[in-house]
Amino acid sequence: MNEIRYVSTRGAAPPSSLSDAIARGLASDGGLYVPDRLPGVDAATLEDLRGLPALARAVLHGFFEGDRLQSRIGEIADGALDLPAPTTAVEASADPLFVLELFHGPTAAFKDFGARFLAESMQRLRAPADPPLTILVATSGDTGGAVAAAFHRRPWVRIVILYPKGLVSPRQEQQLTCWGENVESLRVDGTFDDCQRLVKEAFVDPELSSKHHFSSANSINIGRLLPQMVYYVASSLEVRRRTGQAANFVIPAGNLGNGFAAVWARAIGMPIGRIVLAHNANRTVPDFLGNGQWRPRPSVPTLASAMDVGNPSNMERLRLLFPDLDQLRDAVVADSVDDEAIRERIRADYRRFGREWCPHTATAAEVYNRLPARERAGRPWVLVATAHPAKFNEVVEPLLGKSIEVPESLARLLRLPRRLTDVAPNLGSLAAAIE
Ligand SMILES: *Cc1c(COP(=O)(O)O)cnc(C)c1O
Repeated sequence: MNEIRYVSTRGAAPPSSLSDAIARGLASDGGLYVPDRLPGVDAATLEDLRGLPALARAVLHGFFEGDRLQSRIGEIADGALDLPAPTTAVEASADPLFVLELFHGPTAAFKDFGARFLAESMQRLRAPADPPLTILVATSGDTGGAVAAAFHRRPWVRIVILYPKGLVSPRQEQQLTCWGENVESLRVDGTFDDCQRLVKEAFVDPELSSKHHFSSANSINIGRLLPQMVYYVASSLEVRRRTGQAANFVIPAGNLGNGFAAVWARAIGMPIGRIVLAHNANRTVPDFLGNGQWRPRPSVPTLASAMDVGNPSNMERLRLLFPDLDQLRDAVVADSVDDEAIRERIRADYRRFGREWCPHTATAAEVYNRLPARERAGRPWVLVATAHPAKFNEVVEPLLGKSIEVPESLARLLRLPRRLTDVAPNLGSLAAAIE
């Protein structure tokens, strides 16, 4: 087979190997890397494989064709993806309904899969003489904790997390600040947009960037997207074994990284039917699919805060795959729900199913509920549960009128002391903090 090259969505950067695309994150023309062809997989050859590492070996092999990491996918997958991601049936539902639980990793959100895969990959791309890296991560809540957990105690890298003061949940903040050693947590007196701007300014500052070797781990990195395909492979095969039908997914969506991974999983040949993107009040994508006008806008804060994105970056990848609006409308559907509907859905589904949703998962559950009854009847749907409700206990517990059991991995992090540095939203303040 020929090597797969990774090209920029904007078409003006030189094609690159997968390893270089992972190391760089963003292409030099500001676009996102995508493979120049999609390596198909025969789903029948996967039937006897169980567990994400085994499926990852089989499915990702083609994406690494010709790359220097190809022979090491097995080790990378063993180190990164040996996490439970069960597809559980909602027994109380009259229609066939399942939940893909992506919250059993160390920081209780799906970001763990991508962050851990990126860490294992980057570690294997390093030469002994390479200088230590500094990874700057701006986070609105979940990414920072997942990246910290994935890179903690790796001696070749230092992690600097920037998060907006007062704008993350208390338990998210604990997960951003409990690490120590090679992880530094900066509480920025500003918004998530300020954090992102500071990271960009640091990258282009000649003095800072020559002193530190900066790198990024944000969600546009192809090294985070590829492993996310693997749980859709596992889940769709499981649903087909149990129902004989293709699985349909409702996916909580912000930057569209998780949703896009499902689109790729279907494109390479997995038994996946409809893909529905569930947005909160940030309606850029549903509006675009409705009226064809792409109008990014500032994000508005909602209860499902990890999805507060007004300009979803992975839309570039989606539009390249489906350049025509009607093709895109065939490929994905999108809907938007407000905070009141999220609250009501958390209450209602606890009553009728006994299930506890985080606010993001509740967005998907609400969008599922708004599908026409004939689409739900007799067809298996899977709600993608992106975070554990205990991570958002201050929202969920008052709605359920009870406390939520905390998974042991999260409980352990909640017991650790916090360490953080306050910084003002300017480059001088950031520079002083990372000296
Ligand atoms: C990041 C995140 C999302 C949104 O995922 P995207 O890949 O950005 O669309 C949804 N739910 C939770 C809990 C998240 O952390």
